[in-house]
Amino acid sequence: MTMPLELQTPDKAAEGERRIAEAIAAPLARAQRGDRCMDVFDGTYTIENRKTGQHRTFKIALCRNENSGNAGKRIVGLLSGPDNHQDYTAFGRVEDDRIHVWDHRRRGGGPHDFETYARMLWSLATGDVHAVTWRDKGATLHVAGRCLMCGRKLTVPQSILLGIGPVCLAGGI
Ligand SMILES: [Zn+2]
Repeated sequence: MTMPLELQTPDKAAEGERRIAEAIAAPLARAQRGDRCMDVFDGTYTIENRKTGQHRTFKIALCRNENSGNAGKRIVGLLSGPDNHQDYTAFGRVEDDRIHVWDHRRRGGGPHDFETYARMLWSLATGDVHAVTWRDKGATLHVAGRCLMCGRKLTVPQSILLGIGPVCLAGGI
């Protein structure tokens, strides 16, 4: 069986553009309605496990590519390379009440348990009823920082806490 190629028609781009505009306006619309909602804001987060000393970094950002099927959705990725601005492996999207992991990223024997990452990130960032359980297990959430000396984005827990990245630290203050 052959799959038909998906054509990038102007209609699709217009639809994508509409969804992006809607997503950008959504937080304001919710605030105007007075809805109280639990949400994880767009940004970069690091979860540290104080018991194992390991950490994982995640980024949440709106997909602004109007030709993408994810246009207007808030995509979650795991840092998987040296560049903490763009080396992320996308694995799901933020919904109103959870982080949804895409089917092809669900547990399949790989090194990453994306479903656990999704639940942990959602709970720690929103402070829901499960957050205390994760914290008891040693998990701590850090919001990415900036190096006080050079302005680079910091995603390693110790650097975030110090406020200085390893390059500037090695160079002396
Ligand atoms: Zn620096």
